[in-house]
Amino acid sequence: MSVEVSKIVQGVEPSATLAMSAKAKELKAQGETVYNLSVGEPDFNTPEHICDAAVAAMKAGHTRYTVASGLPELKQAICDDYNARTGLAYKPTQCVVSNGAKHALHNAFFGALNPGDEVVLPAPYWVSYAELIKLSGAKPVIVQTTEADGFKLTPEALLAAITPQTKMLLLCNPSNPTGACYSRDELAALAKIVVEKDLVVVADEIYDHLVYGGCFTSFPTILDGLQDRTIVINGVSKTYAMTGWRIGWLLAPEPFAKKIGGLQSQETSNPCSISQYAALAALRGDQSCVEAMKVEFEKRRNYVTQRIADIPGLSAPAMGGAFYAFINISAHLGRQYNGVQVDTSKDWCLELLQQKKVATVMGSAFGCEGYARASFAASMETLEIAYDRIAEFLA
Ligand code: PMP
Ligand code: GLU
Repeated sequence: MSVEVSKIVQGVEPSATLAMSAKAKELKAQGETVYNLSVGEPDFNTPEHICDAAVAAMKAGHTRYTVASGLPELKQAICDDYNARTGLAYKPTQCVVSNGAKHALHNAFFGALNPGDEVVLPAPYWVSYAELIKLSGAKPVIVQTTEADGFKLTPEALLAAITPQTKMLLLCNPSNPTGACYSRDELAALAKIVVEKDLVVVADEIYDHLVYGGCFTSFPTILDGLQDRTIVINGVSKTYAMTGWRIGWLLAPEPFAKKIGGLQSQETSNPCSISQYAALAALRGDQSCVEAMKVEFEKRRNYVTQRIADIPGLSAPAMGGAFYAFINISAHLGRQYNGVQVDTSKDWCLELLQQKKVATVMGSAFGCEGYARASFAASMETLEIAYDRIAEFLA
């Protein structure tokens, strides 16, 4: 018998963000200059003191297995950092360190969902949520949010989506791909329904340090008792420019975290020991690098906001956080570009890459046709040329 793919894996789509980034890299390898606004990762190098800590860890012989759920001192540092910022009192026994926040999300879904459970997933959503939910045998129930509502889930829309099968709500705040940032009051209105309807919340807060001009509220701080029904996801990828190191984590009620630690001991064992020491240095070390990168991102966000406003027929909701512009391109669909008919956001992104060598990601990959996502985690020079080319492309 030849090897056949299981039914569950058949249903999983590859990551569109990584696919667009791979296409951009392919063109680059062919000698093209590509302006890559596709994948969302800081363009900064990991700060020096963090790299030094990794080298020191290697030299000190920290090159063996650690506790499967993560180094105790790293879990303590994660809790200390989160508790200091939120006033909550998480303990290391409530923390599981994984191979990136993506893996932590997989653990959260796989660990908390049964086949047939429904998860309310506000769209536009980050590409991996729907696929990871399906991998657990559960069903993503997509709820469209609107540009007019700032792409935020409203209490009415949440209520309308809930059925007897609904088990979980996914909240990405600040949002990838829209940059939407929820206020405390907006979260409180959703939390009330979460409690009334007895739901679990996966709160993906990986962009919590990248909030511009507002203030970030972590979901479990809204109401007493929310900690018992919330799984908080975070990691070092975005905050410390450490995407390649693959360290993320979840914070959850202790019995859940304990069971996930056991699952991870069977699936992957510990995340890379050296990366864990680097993450420890990131969390315990000087935090000025975080502020410095944020200042730079904010500068770029202001620049990109202006560029989009200046191009006829484009608009984007205000970017309260993260590092993405979610650009409404609907006025520019259904027309030809150098003789090529472009009807969908996928056509548009592929032609923009082909004709102008600017890589973005189609809105359809985020469950929202008529838009394109353009990361602004790129140098000012790259952004200037990329937006010049987008303007040329549309003209
Ligand atoms: N959540 C969101 C919203 C993201 O944008 C990303 C970026 N890839 C992740 C989770 C995963 O991050 P990582 O696996 O690099 O820690
Ligand atoms: N979160 C980033 C993005 O959305 C990284 C790529 C990925 O993991 O999807 O582009």
